[in-house]
Amino acid sequence: MNNVESLIPVLRLLSDGAVHSGAVLGDMLGVSRAAVWKQLQRLDELGLVVESVKGRGYCLRGGLELLNREEILQGLGGCDAALTELQLALQVPSTNALLLEQLAAGRGHAVALLAEQQIAGRGRRGREWLTPFGGGIALSIGWRFDGGVQLLEGLSLAVGAALAQALESLGVEGVQLKWPNDVLCRGKKLAGILLEVSGDLTDRCAVVIGVGLNMRLPETQAQQIDQPWIDLHQIAPQVGRNRVCAALLRALTDLLQAYPRTGFAAWRETWQQRDAFAGQPVQLHAGPKHWEGIARGVSADGALRLEVDGEVQVFSGGEVSLRPRTTESGAGHAGS
Ligand code: ATP
Repeated sequence: MNNVESLIPVLRLLSDGAVHSGAVLGDMLGVSRAAVWKQLQRLDELGLVVESVKGRGYCLRGGLELLNREEILQGLGGCDAALTELQLALQVPSTNALLLEQLAAGRGHAVALLAEQQIAGRGRRGREWLTPFGGGIALSIGWRFDGGVQLLEGLSLAVGAALAQALESLGVEGVQLKWPNDVLCRGKKLAGILLEVSGDLTDRCAVVIGVGLNMRLPETQAQQIDQPWIDLHQIAPQVGRNRVCAALLRALTDLLQAYPRTGFAAWRETWQQRDAFAGQPVQLHAGPKHWEGIARGVSADGALRLEVDGEVQVFSGGEVSLRPRTTESGAGHAGS
């Protein structure tokens, strides 16, 4: 974590993606050229690729849009009233983990936390979510619900549907959803969602909604990802990071405020219209067990409907993972 903050001035200068000479950078930052060089090396440690252009200076290829509170609030256009606090951080282990801590300490309701980088971003069941510095959106919102965990039924799917609509409102086309909670585009993973619940599950409980969305992933770091991925830069390069943050925050606060009233029923159709696997052969995995069949949308509570041997079975989230079926193996069956 050590002192990423001290790198913000040089990052601001390089964020335009243009070539800056070492001498000019030194002047602007009020440090020697040797000190500039050291700072640039530290950017490298953050995973940012600083290119040296012979005889001219340095550049951050493609530039970088740092999180900007004013721009996000402007994008929210008054909808920030639904939030008690907007927290911006540079480098955190996991935005979800930090918000869970705040909720455990009696704070955190309607708090949104955004970070430039997560170094231990979380996926489902202990998996990791990669958020390189400035390369994605790592966003979590804490929310308390009176009335127990049953009010949250289907919420993780509703979050996916709300995110899809938010992206579409920015002109992003072809957004699809994969049960239970992935956001895809061109069949590749653009964003992941992780809901974590705490408190009394029968009464006053709290949920942290975590969203990881790829804006522009450096190839070198993305090599770690063991499934097809995509970033917004490949789909809609004109859409800026702070605008996306504002659109997601607005969509999520609207959703959360209304959810105790609407439940998943209000979102089922929106979800199904974007279902990446509707009518397609898929496999479901839960530990050593697996099922094969045809995906038939979701039920009123957000469970997956799978047609196996002509009959529809329903599967709830938890331990179950869905994958496309690549080899044809008949009408569908269960196995282990
Ligand atoms: P499931 O279908 O059960 O949700 P999943 O593999 O999609 O399975 P998640 O917990 O949703 O699991 O997400 C974590 C996984 O996502 C990682 O194991 C990795 O394969 C992938 N991943 C990690 N970081 C990224 C990223 N930035 N972009 C796309 N995919 C990522």
